[in-house]
Amino acid sequence: MQQFKQLTHRIWYQTPVSETDRPIVAVITGDDRSLVIDAGNSSQHAALFLDEMKKQGLKQPDLVALTHWHWDHIFGMKQMAVPTIATKRTVEEMQKMMDYEWSDEALEERIQQAIEIPFCADAIKLEFGANRDIEIVLPTIQFEGQLEVDLGGVQCLLRQVENDHSPESALIYIPQERVLFLGDAMYADIFSAKWNYTTDQTTRLLDVIAEYDADYYVWSHGEAMPKDEFEQEVTVLRRAIEVTQQASGQVSDMRRLYRERVERDLTTGEEETLVFFANGTKK
Ligand SMILES: [Zn+2]
Repeated sequence: MQQFKQLTHRIWYQTPVSETDRPIVAVITGDDRSLVIDAGNSSQHAALFLDEMKKQGLKQPDLVALTHWHWDHIFGMKQMAVPTIATKRTVEEMQKMMDYEWSDEALEERIQQAIEIPFCADAIKLEFGANRDIEIVLPTIQFEGQLEVDLGGVQCLLRQVENDHSPESALIYIPQERVLFLGDAMYADIFSAKWNYTTDQTTRLLDVIAEYDADYYVWSHGEAMPKDEFEQEVTVLRRAIEVTQQASGQVSDMRRLYRERVERDLTTGEEETLVFFANGTKK
């Protein structure tokens, strides 16, 4: 059961669903306008979000900002029915999807062509069932670099960022509320045969994130993570980058070096992170 929660004075969000890959959808409520972050993975998802806003007495949104082009963040756009902002690269990737069909056969064909992955195809089938009423709507406003949106009493800073999961996606920072929306930027590249992180892209991403001071860091398929917890995640990634470089991507050496540094056994998360970085060196 998805919940609709208030994070700060001006920010509300709806919790994600892992089975159908519904990401967090959030709204920033300004004095004059409100902006929704990501459109949800279907019309139903977007409708549920808009309904929750109404129940809380929030005005309907004026704008949507997309973090990146993956289906689960954009398929609710038609239902949102307001102007949408995205990076130029996100728009270009969405343009490629305009002619796609979404039947089981079409999904299977794209999996064979290595354009689609079973992880997404399975979640699409689960979210939509037999009725694939999917219509992609292109964003109205595109930007490169950064863009500031004034909602009245609160700003949203959109920043294009490199990362392995979805190149040139957007981070969204709300300075007045001290919240940074990460989208899926912190996740690995899941579209390659072997899920991976690269040391270059991850270093660039972490350096950009470090420019923003936040109390909460929102992972689209996770939670609004408090600062101290997020810093621990960053430490794991930075340490993993160091041992990957030292061991030139040899995973057994990476494990040994990592263990020596932390003076304990690796957690499952750390183990997985090292494997992803080792995969990234072979890309
Ligand atoms: Zn994604």
